[in-house]
Amino acid sequence: LTEFMAKTLQAVRGMNDILPAETSAWQYLEDTLRDVVHAYGYSEIRLPLLEKTELFKRSIGEVTDIVEKEMYTFDDRNGDSLTLRPEGTASCVRACLQHGLLHNQVQRLWYMGPMFRHERPQKGRYRQFHQVGVESFGMPGPDIDAEMIFMTARMWERLGLAGASLQINSLGTQAARANYRNALVDYLQAHADALDEDSTRRLSSNPLRILDSKNPAMQELIAAAPRLPDYLDEESAEHFAGFCALLDAAGINYEINPRLVRGLDYYSKTVFEWVTDQLGAQGTICAGGRYDGLVEYLGGTATPAFGFALGLERLLALLMSADAKLPANEPHIYMVVSGAAATERGLVLADELRDAVPGLRLQVNCSGGSFKSQFKRADRSGADFALVIGDEEVVQKTAVLKPLRNKADQETVTHSVLAERVGNLLSGKLDG
Ligand code: ATP
Ligand code: MG
Repeated sequence: LTEFMAKTLQAVRGMNDILPAETSAWQYLEDTLRDVVHAYGYSEIRLPLLEKTELFKRSIGEVTDIVEKEMYTFDDRNGDSLTLRPEGTASCVRACLQHGLLHNQVQRLWYMGPMFRHERPQKGRYRQFHQVGVESFGMPGPDIDAEMIFMTARMWERLGLAGASLQINSLGTQAARANYRNALVDYLQAHADALDEDSTRRLSSNPLRILDSKNPAMQELIAAAPRLPDYLDEESAEHFAGFCALLDAAGINYEINPRLVRGLDYYSKTVFEWVTDQLGAQGTICAGGRYDGLVEYLGGTATPAFGFALGLERLLALLMSADAKLPANEPHIYMVVSGAAATERGLVLADELRDAVPGLRLQVNCSGGSFKSQFKRADRSGADFALVIGDEEVVQKTAVLKPLRNKADQETVTHSVLAERVGNLLSGKLDG
C-alpha cells in the first residue's frame, strides 16, 4: 500500500489539481473573460476533448513541435487513433464544417477548457493547461483583426493587468510567403553549418518555423536572416497598414516584430502575440492571427478566418502577482444549530434566508458537535456571522446573530425580520 500511495496517489506529471483555495481566482478569471467575449457578440462552442489524430496532423502540421513531440495519442478499443486536443482551432473548424456553420454566414465563436501537450513541465508550462480560444470566420478585412486586439486589450484592462506588450507582424499572402521562404532557405543553406538539429530538419519542411527557435546559439543567425516585411505583397501590405491604422486610432501601442511567425502555409497576413516580462521564460500570454487558408485546407469552401488563444495558467499567475482583488467565496453566515428541533427548523430557515436574500452564501453546521466545536468551524469557514439556533430559539421563533470578525454585540432577531436584518448587515457584500 505504501508503494501504491507513493506512486499512484500522485496526479500525472504536469497535470494539476486546482484546489478549493484557488478556484475562486479561476472563476473570477473565467467570468471576466466570458463577459468580455460576450460583450463583443461571440457565442460559445463546446468541443470534445478527443479528436481523430489525423485532424490535428493535417491542421496543425506534421512538422511542428505539437505534432512531432507533444501530442497525447493512443488507439482506442476500435483501433482508431485518437488524440487529446493540444489546441482548439482544429476542432472548432472541424465542427463548423461538420455542422455547416460557415455557409454564407459569419461566425464569432469562443471556447474554454483544458488542452494537453506532452512538454517538459515548468513554471507556466504544463501538460494539461487551459486556454480560452476565440475564432472568427467569414471576415477578410483588417477591422476584425483590430477588433480582436481591442478585445484582448480590454481583457487585460478588466483584469487589472498592466505591462503586457503587443507584438505584431504580417506573413503576407501565400504567394508572397513562398518568395520569402525561398530567400530564407537560400540564406539558411548558405549557413547550414550553423544550424542546430531541429532547424536542419525544418529547413526543407518548415523553414519559417526556424525563426521561432528558442535556441540561444541560433539567435545571431536568425537576426541576420531576410525579413518578412521586405517580401510583403501589395494586398497584404495594404491589409497590414489598415490594421495598424485602426490600432493607432484606438491608441493601442504595439511593436512590429519582423520575426514573429506562425509556421504553417494556411496562416496569412496578420499575426500577433501579447508578451509580458513578468513570467520569466514563459512570457507569451496570448497568441493568434489570420488563417485564411485553413478551412479550405481541411476540405471546406475557402473562408477567411482569424483567431487567438490565451493561456489561463499564465494569466492567473499574473493576476496573483498583481494582487488583484478577487471576489470572496467564503460563506457570509455559518449557522450553528443545537438540538433536534433546531436542526429541523434550521435547515428550512436557511433555505428561507437563501430565497429572501439574493447572493447570500450560508453554510449550515451538519452532523452536530458542541457549541464550542461548531463555533470553531464557523470561525474557520471565514463567515462574517454565526447564526445560532437552539431549542429555545425555535420556540421563540428567533435566532442569535453573532459577529465573528469584530467585537460588536450579538443580537437576537425574530424570524420574521431576519432576512431584512441579514440583508442590511451584509449590504455591499452579497454576490451579483
Ligand atoms: P510556446 O512558444 O510558449 O510553447 P505556443 O506557440 O506553443 O507557445 P500556442 O499554441 O500559441 O502556444 O498557445 C497559445 C497560448 O497558450 C500560449 O501563448 C500560452 O499562453 C498558452 N500555452 C501554450 N502551451 C502551454 C503549456 N504547455 N502550458 C501552459 N500554457 C500554455
Ligand atoms: Mg509550445
